[in-house]
Order: sequence, then C-alpha cells, then structure tokens
Amino acid sequence: METNGRRGQPKVPGVIRQRQKGFVTLRLRAVGGEFTADQVRAIASVAERYGKGGLHLTMRQGIEIHSVLRTESRAAVEELAMAGVTMGADGARVRIVTACPGRDTCRWGIVDTREIAGELDRRFFAREAPYKFKIGVTGCPNNCAGATGNDVGVMGAVVPAWDPSACNDCGVCLQTCPHHAILRDNETYSVDTGHCSQCGRCTVSCPQGAWTVVRRGVVLWIGGTMGKNPRLGTRLDRMIDSNEELLDLVERAFAWYCRNGRPKERFGQAIDRVGIQSALDEVLIPRPA
Ligand code: SF4
Ligand code: SF4
Ligand code: SF4
Repeated sequence: METNGRRGQPKVPGVIRQRQKGFVTLRLRAVGGEFTADQVRAIASVAERYGKGGLHLTMRQGIEIHSVLRTESRAAVEELAMAGVTMGADGARVRIVTACPGRDTCRWGIVDTREIAGELDRRFFAREAPYKFKIGVTGCPNNCAGATGNDVGVMGAVVPAWDPSACNDCGVCLQTCPHHAILRDNETYSVDTGHCSQCGRCTVSCPQGAWTVVRRGVVLWIGGTMGKNPRLGTRLDRMIDSNEELLDLVERAFAWYCRNGRPKERFGQAIDRVGIQSALDEVLIPRPA
C-alpha cells in the first residue's frame, strides 16, 4: 500500500511528500486547466490558511498548494472537496487530462477539446498503469497543448475539399496553407495529402468559402513523452469521427501498455522495445470478441 510518509496511513491521491520533513504538496485536479471562479477563491482560501499563501501552476494545467503540514492535509483536502475541487493524481497511474481551449473560443479550433478531455478523464483518470500515463487534447495541428509529447495525444483534424463553382482563383489559399499543400494546375486546385496537416486553415481563410470541411474529427499520437528520454508520439494513420471510437482506441492503447510495459517504463519506451507494429496491431485492429 502506498503511503504519504506516515507508516500505516493509506495514500491520499494528489498529496505529495515534500523534501521538507512533515510537509506535503496538494496537487489539484483540473480537467483541461478549467476551474470556476468560486473554486479559485476556495483554493486561495485554503492556500492562505494551510499553506504559505501562494499557488503554483503546474506544467499540466493544474494548481498545487505547497508547504501544507502533513498533519493538516486531510482537513485541507476536505475543505477543497466541499468547493468541488478534487485531488490530482501522482505515481504510476493516469494523470490529469490536459487540453487547449479548442473550438469553444479559438478561431483555429477544429474540435470541442473540453468535451473530449472530459470524456477521457471520466474513463481513464487515476487508473493504475506501469508508470505515469499522460493524455493531452489539442484542438488543431498548431498543437498548443503539446499532444505529441503525451503518452496519448488527441489532435483535431479536418479533411478539406475544393468547390470549383465558388472559387474565383484569387490564390489566397496558396499563400495561407502553412505546408504549401495546395496545388494549382490550370485554375484547378487540389490538396497534396502527403503534405497536408489537416489544419483546416484553408477552410477558414478562403474569402469565397470554396474550401469546405468534408470530414471533421481527431487523429491520435501514441507514445509521446518529455522528461529524461523525450520521444515524439507516433501518429496513427486513422481519422477518428466520434468520441466513442476515440475512447475505444485509447482503451486499446492503454491495454497494450498495461500488458507490455515494465514498471517505470513509459508507453513510448515500451513501444520502442517491443515494436511499434505490435502496438499498432492492437490499437487499430480490434480483437475478436
Ligand atoms: S491547438 Fe489550435 S485550437 Fe488549440 S489553442 Fe492552439 S490554435 Fe487554438
Ligand atoms: S482562396 Fe478560395 S477563392 Fe481563392 S483561390 Fe483559394 S479556393 Fe479559390
Ligand atoms: S488543411 Fe491545412 S495543410 Fe491541408 S491544405 Fe488546408 S491549409 Fe493546407
């Protein structure tokens, strides 16, 4: 059984021993970095009374309250819970799901990142794994949420199509496509799919609305990690159209990791040791029931 440092006491998730004897850090859970104003007031109040009055913003969009006396941490956790603030995860389990603002507010956003992050959090948060397991959701290939550096990264993607009847051959899309993936031949436009990142910028910036979205979904990156052994995630060659399908694929990726990963081995390192094809076969090809 894990403990917070006192023999015989069960581990409280998100309560992390500090280097200073007798003090702990409270790591708070924020799906996609979201807190309400009321929750922030409650967090500030707890930080003033139990900590040193300061807050720390984590790399994974959470908030930590540092330097809480271990003997007072349960009371602080209970006060936070009354305000609807729950604890984050630590150790060998699925961590808080991060997300950029996505389509809700960002003009480049392709998908509703908050909804996707919420569904992933409800399914996977705090599940035990060989080691820490991070999920990030980013609304488009601009990748502001760094999905490619997560064990599972979800990225919004579109398939664009050109409507010749709406196009006036102004050439704007040739300039705005960030990957020069739009081709013009004899007043006819097409997409070089080998270079298209599926960002959808053409569909937003064409003054005539001649580039339209024929498919909107997400793509998955698996095995990304930062830290000691950085590894860029491997992009799966499949467009995912629904949250149900997404959850299914992430479940299979997680199952492969839990079966193949060694203790303290990240998903990407397990992929490199066992072989990417093994992971792809499991994630992309469902096993017979
Ligand atoms: S990744 Fe895309 S949708 Fe998300 S904040 Fe960045 S530009 Fe906006
Ligand atoms: S920006 Fe739109 S109207 Fe202009 S060339 Fe491209 S598709 Fe045609
Ligand atoms: S989706 Fe993005 S990368 Fe693809 S053609 Fe349009 S602007 Fe270019």
